[in-house]
Amino acid sequence: MRELQELFENNRAWSERKVKEDPETFKRLAQKQAPKYLWIGCSDSRIPANEVLGLEPGEIFVHRNVANIVPHTDINCLSVLQYGVDYLNVEHIIVCGHYGCGGALAAMENGQFGLVDNWLRHLRDVYFREKEELDSLSDPDERSKRFIELNVLYQVMNVCHTTIVQNAWAKKKKLSIHGWIYDISTGLLKDLNCCISALDQIDEAYRTLKLH
Ligand SMILES: [Zn+2]
Repeated sequence: MRELQELFENNRAWSERKVKEDPETFKRLAQKQAPKYLWIGCSDSRIPANEVLGLEPGEIFVHRNVANIVPHTDINCLSVLQYGVDYLNVEHIIVCGHYGCGGALAAMENGQFGLVDNWLRHLRDVYFREKEELDSLSDPDERSKRFIELNVLYQVMNVCHTTIVQNAWAKKKKLSIHGWIYDISTGLLKDLNCCISALDQIDEAYRTLKLH
């Protein structure tokens, strides 16, 4: 018997349900995708971007990795970003972290976890830079939550520091980058009130173009 039979059964039922709701749904999706949003989130199994946002297939372009990090040397993340911005013309990029993030919690420990330690180093750098504020929080839960929020803000800026985003702004494309947090204990999103949509919101040291 084929393994994971139940997943194929789930898939068939889902597909039939979708066709029942809208007989043209897969025909339309097969033609093209035109998502308005790019989601950069954590790989954590509890945060399915489409479901959390109430969006249908085709409505959001997604990149996920451990602890929603956007390193400027990660060809995978940058390729998703470039395709989303240059070809899909997404108008909003959402970097979404989540409280209780295993990656962030691991990066707060003095311990090793294997290969992933090299990836988590990006988080340790964030902690190091924000050490004063973070160490001043005596409640460990409060400290980890703030660390997770700060990581999102750093990753929002990493998105904005790319030539991909800065070139899009130079071409007058409508493009905003947002920082959000998902609370797995309530299922609710929180806006960190960080929305960057122009080059003049970026520190001069990170501008790869001159302001006009
Ligand atoms: Zn996570």
